[in-house]
Amino acid sequence: MSISTQTQEKTGFFGSFGGSYVPEPLVPILAELADAYETIVPTESFQQELACFLKQYAGRPSPLYFAERLTAYAGGAKIYLKREDLNHTGAHKINHTLGEGLLARRMGKKKLIAETGAGQHGVATATVAALFGFDCDVYMGAVDVEKQAPNVLRMKLLGANVIPVTDGAATLKEAVDAALMAFVHDHENVFYALGSAVGPHPYPSMVRDFQKIVGIEAKQQILEHEGSLPDYLIACVGGGSNAIGLFHNFLGDEDVKIIGVEPSGKSLKVGEHAASLTFGEEGIMHGFNSIMLKDENGEPAPVYSIASGLDYPSVGPQHAHLKQIGRASYEMASDREALDAFRLLSRLEGIIPAIESAHAVAYAVKLAAKLPADKVIVVNLSGRGDKDMESLAPYLK
Ligand SMILES: *Cc1c(COP(=O)(O)O)cnc(C)c1O
Repeated sequence: MSISTQTQEKTGFFGSFGGSYVPEPLVPILAELADAYETIVPTESFQQELACFLKQYAGRPSPLYFAERLTAYAGGAKIYLKREDLNHTGAHKINHTLGEGLLARRMGKKKLIAETGAGQHGVATATVAALFGFDCDVYMGAVDVEKQAPNVLRMKLLGANVIPVTDGAATLKEAVDAALMAFVHDHENVFYALGSAVGPHPYPSMVRDFQKIVGIEAKQQILEHEGSLPDYLIACVGGGSNAIGLFHNFLGDEDVKIIGVEPSGKSLKVGEHAASLTFGEEGIMHGFNSIMLKDENGEPAPVYSIASGLDYPSVGPQHAHLKQIGRASYEMASDREALDAFRLLSRLEGIIPAIESAHAVAYAVKLAAKLPADKVIVVNLSGRGDKDMESLAPYLK
């Protein structure tokens, strides 16, 4: 890594993407956080404490599983699954919320706040708040509170306050604004736990650093299984945290091809997909510069995916950079393909994947079929599908 890349990353830029474009009152608050990230996170004692919770609480390392029947079905390359679905709370999100919780504790904060759409990030944050004895406020659009009753119940059971936001369309965007306002108002006591590798500096780098354990483990595990590095890495991309977690430790391994999978939803019409990197253009949203889907007024476009964890109109800045420099490519899977993969993995392997993760599985099966049997694909299975049973029931009949 050249010196200039290092200094750039220190200020949160990945090429021209990333940075911090926030209202004046947030500037010193984020500077305090960036300082804590730079001085506390790399220390031996922080890393040891985090490793301990990842092992004893989250259940790491997660297995790297050779999916033999799925491989036989595809009839080509070997498919391995990195089993993030087996983590406590059922997804990769616990990796970064544990990191954020530990950092909040070191910074002397008393309360975690988070925004949530489908409720997955809210549940992961409420879990960590219970674990470390923090107060916890989760901001959620009033519309989403209605739609996601089971996750609202979970958050409350874990001791969090779920705060319905009734402004505007009363969904995720308004919840983000309300959470940011609360952060500014009470920053001495509050740590804002962001849910993906997005947002202003230091979040994209910090969340990535808490997720990179996935790729560190995967590299060691595939070397044990195969004696060589994989030919392909595949992960689904919403904000991009599970994907960058798998990819990061392989970025220097030039022979390993890296593919992120975005949701092409119902169709390629505006409002019916969330393939930000495929159809987006450069722009600033939620405090950072990246590739985003814009409407005719340059505002974030409406997005849709059957997987609520993937329906974000932008993407983490490191992914925008990896695409621009050609180190990673970004492909798509539709609702239909994800549903087929959801069923396929359940039937062939006894693993019900999160519908988000099923997008990566769908693409991996398609790719494997075109490759010879000596090639190896590692797919990040970012979460399990229990949470999706109710909402997918109408499609599964
Ligand atoms: C939230 C979520 C995602 C999408 O988030 P990323 O930041 O893109 O990883 C993917 N899979 C699961 C299971 C999730 O809960």
